Amino acid sequence: MDDNIKMNAYALRNENFIDTVDVSCPKCGTRALVMGGQPFGIIKEYEDQVRFSCISCGYAVKYSNTPESTFYTNSSGVKKSGRILIMNAPCDPFFGFGVWYYIETRYGSLWAYNELHLSVIENYIANPQRSRNGLPNQNNSIASRLPQWAKDAKNREYLLKMINRFKSK
Ligand SMILES: [Zn+2]
Repeated sequence: MDDNIKMNAYALRNENFIDTVDVSCPKCGTRALVMGGQPFGIIKEYEDQVRFSCISCGYAVKYSNTPESTFYTNSSGVKKSGRILIMNAPCDPFFGFGVWYYIETRYGSLWAYNELHLSVIENYIANPQRSRNGLPNQNNSIASRLPQWAKDAKNREYLLKMINRFKSK
């Protein structure tokens, strides 16, 4: 992939960025990391690698040590359980901790899993051409999931200012 496509909000999904998610530590509120996510992987196959850790307070959790959810109980009374990822929400997909990159605007919130993810969203808002470069308009792409207010030209300057203010704090 060339850089143009790599950074194109029409070609990427939020899931592309789950490998390292910057979150707010649920114990101390500082910036911490959820690592080990594999975009488009099967969670059963990589759950051992997913972990949360906070350098500030030392809180750490392995995903494989968290309880599985029960999906249903079958006719023999056996509970069937597994793991459901929380996708496309302002929290990491595994533990559900709030993302660090969460920006309140007067229209609603913008959020991202990590800095690169935020820069894709920022580039999309900043680019008045909104060029797909011949890419098909994919369902579930970052661009297709952004709310209309994030796409309105009249909000562009304000939203970029809010993103910049966040990045400089
Ligand atoms: Zn902490």
